[in-house]
Amino acid sequence: MPITLRLTPANGQEAAARRELTDFVERTSGQTLAACYQCAKCAAGCPLAAAMDLAPQQIIRALQLGQPDLALPSQTLWLCVGCQTCATRCPCNVELPRIMDALRLWAETRGRSASMMRGSSTLQGQRVAQVWQPTHNQSV
Ligand code: SF4
Ligand code: SF4
Repeated sequence: MPITLRLTPANGQEAAARRELTDFVERTSGQTLAACYQCAKCAAGCPLAAAMDLAPQQIIRALQLGQPDLALPSQTLWLCVGCQTCATRCPCNVELPRIMDALRLWAETRGRSASMMRGSSTLQGQRVAQVWQPTHNQSV
C-alpha cells in the first residue's frame, strides 16, 4: 500500500534541529542521503517491508526533505534486522542499514530530539515527544 509523506513546515529553530539530525545521520553512517534516487529496489528485496509503516527508501526520503519527524517515529527503524539485502541491491551503493543504525543511535541517545518533536505539528512528532519525555531527553 503506498504511503504519502506529508511535509510539515519548520520555523528557524525546528529547521536547525532537523538539519542537526540529518547531519548526524550522514556523519555517523558515512552515507550521503542525496545519493538515493528513490528507485525502491531496496524495498523490493527487504524481507520485512510488508510489516513496515514506511518503506526503507521512504525513511531516506523523509531525511532528504528535512522531515526526520516523519522518520523517527516509524516502526521501520526497529523492524530492520540489518540483513544487508537492501545494500546489496542498491544501484547507488547506499548502505541503508547504516542509516537505520544511525537513526536508532540518535533515538536512543538523543531522545529523538525532543525539543524538535515538541514543536512538531505532526501527530507522529507529538507522539514521540510524549513517549520520549522525560527519560530520554539527555544529550550526549
Ligand atoms: S535501492 Fe538505493 S537508490 Fe534505490 S531507493 Fe533504495 S537506497 Fe535509494
Ligand atoms: S537491512 Fe533492514 S531495510 Fe535493508 S533489507 Fe534488511 S531488513 Fe530491510
